[in-house]
Amino acid sequence: MDADSLELIKSPLGTSILAICYDSLFRCEENQVCTILKLGLRPRESIFWWRVYMDLIPMCGWLHRRGLCADVLCPMGCNQLEELNHVTTQCKKLDEVLRRLEAWGFPTPRFTSLDELKGALKGGLLTKASWPLLYCAAVHLCWGNRNAIRHGKNESTITMMAAKILGSTTHSFFSRNLEQRFTKWALSSGTACAS
Ligand SMILES: [Zn+2]
Repeated sequence: MDADSLELIKSPLGTSILAICYDSLFRCEENQVCTILKLGLRPRESIFWWRVYMDLIPMCGWLHRRGLCADVLCPMGCNQLEELNHVTTQCKKLDEVLRRLEAWGFPTPRFTSLDELKGALKGGLLTKASWPLLYCAAVHLCWGNRNAIRHGKNESTITMMAAKILGSTTHSFFSRNLEQRFTKWALSSGTACAS
């Protein structure tokens, strides 16, 4: 006969059981994937990036390795293998979107590989930089755009995509930007007062 055991069915802290399980799964300071989960991305973007970090995105290169796809090139006309490094750092569509954001006054750094990007995102998390929100949203949107093209839907224009990214990140982006500016102002004021 099985022994009785305690089972958690509700939390007095107002946290759902599902949320507690989720937190316990990702309570891992040393795990790289925790960086992406702490950036403050929207849920869909977080899940997408978790899959990127876990190499679980079914892109052409990924499918080809499993014998499920013959065409391995990026559908955006880059003439390069569609794989994680390409989609997250090198695709010309991503670069065009980032350049449009830059032209509107929202610059983001560029990277040559996913590993380099991961390192920068980790640094961005520590410094509460605002660019990771834009960059991660841009990669996610470009991925959705290429899927739309594959399914015969219309391709989004660069302007539409850049506007959508700004619209989706406005709250987090500007609150973080304001926080950084206030911190810089406070530090400079403190320095001025001390001198
Ligand atoms: Zn491409």
